[in-house]
Amino acid sequence: MTKKEKIGIITLGCSKNTVDSERLMSQLRFNKFDLVDDPNSADSLVINTCGFIDDAKEESVNTILAAVERKKKGNLKKVIVAGCLSERYKSELEIEIPEVDVFFGTEAYEQIVKEFGGDLKKDLLGERVVTTPKHYAYLKISEGCDNPCSFCAIPIMRGKHKTKSIEELVAESTYLAEKGVKELVIIGQDTTDYGKEIYGKRVLAELLNKLSGIKGIEWIRLLYAYPSHFPEDIMDVIRENPKVLNYIDMPLQHISDPVLKSMRRGISKRRTKELIFRLKEKIPDLTLRTTFIVGYPNETEKDFIELRDFIREVRFDRFGVFTYSLEENTTAYDLGDPIPKEEKERRRAELMEIQAKISLEKNQSYIGKTIRVLAERLEGDFHIARSERDAPEVDGEVLISKKSKIIPGNFYDVEIYDCNEYDLFGKLIKNKAS
Ligand code: SF4
Repeated sequence: MTKKEKIGIITLGCSKNTVDSERLMSQLRFNKFDLVDDPNSADSLVINTCGFIDDAKEESVNTILAAVERKKKGNLKKVIVAGCLSERYKSELEIEIPEVDVFFGTEAYEQIVKEFGGDLKKDLLGERVVTTPKHYAYLKISEGCDNPCSFCAIPIMRGKHKTKSIEELVAESTYLAEKGVKELVIIGQDTTDYGKEIYGKRVLAELLNKLSGIKGIEWIRLLYAYPSHFPEDIMDVIRENPKVLNYIDMPLQHISDPVLKSMRRGISKRRTKELIFRLKEKIPDLTLRTTFIVGYPNETEKDFIELRDFIREVRFDRFGVFTYSLEENTTAYDLGDPIPKEEKERRRAELMEIQAKISLEKNQSYIGKTIRVLAERLEGDFHIARSERDAPEVDGEVLISKKSKIIPGNFYDVEIYDCNEYDLFGKLIKNKAS
């Protein structure tokens, strides 16, 4: 393959895949390959797939099929598939879609670079082509997971929990800050498990404090915390360190004890409530995001009502609800999938409706208040920004009139004058970019 041929990378799935693609892009650039943003103008494509649940798998397969269609028409020279779907189903995919040149698993940087005739630059693996807006970036602090959640196929695709060292992550974050990144979004499969392989104990609190010392980094946001072994020292870091946002994403998945037990979540309803109580007590203005699964095989109507009442009681700031997806080779697989799709959808819709009301009430409490926001982009009649309460891509936003002088990537103070269920409307009060 001549160096000047154009390579396109399609990234599907979660932010961890985004980081993997960014690392691969950096490696291809170092090998002087020509990367194109628009996959339709590429000579060759790398598809970084997702194999998490049915919908994601379907999207990955459709993307592959569309690519091999282009190849059959002579519009593409090479189609390379990598990531979670091919990590999990390589042999089946090789039989079903033989037009694909090669299937690789996850984190297959070296193989992919070699496939194009290049060499892996090991010492530059921490470097990335940031594909998110340049003022924020995901920092993947670990990969894989040691938790036994019965419904989850991620450990099958991503393996055991592996931690990157504090030095490596400080170096990577310094590199990102030099490129203009102001917000680090901390990700992993279970970020609270950080450090145990290298340091013999969980040291996420130490890492967060170290990252906050990097010049240019203003916001550090914690996602994917795991409830059953939540390190208490993190609460103090969030409360005391102004750069570590009062924001935690902590998927709970359910609350009824029989379901939590069958899901192998390693935590009970009582301990979950105690943890949430301590979090809210220690960090009064905490923004708490979570995720639930409805329609899990042994979820009865009584369990569902328990979950519904729990949501009404706790009043989460942000949450998402997945319908249960039967996944081969998971420990829940043998329980089958007895709850009909319509009933799963009904339960999901009921919870989202409750949350929309809670979210509106919480947003209304911000009217008249001044908050700091990070400007993202201009869209139609509004500048779109995010506050401390808004993780990128999953939460609400703050909308500011396009007449305001705003530059994406800068922080502004805005006064909130209106809202809807998910977004706030604010007016610029200090034309001072920071
Ligand atoms: S914590 Fe549980 S749900 Fe999350 S990746 Fe690990 S096994 Fe899957």
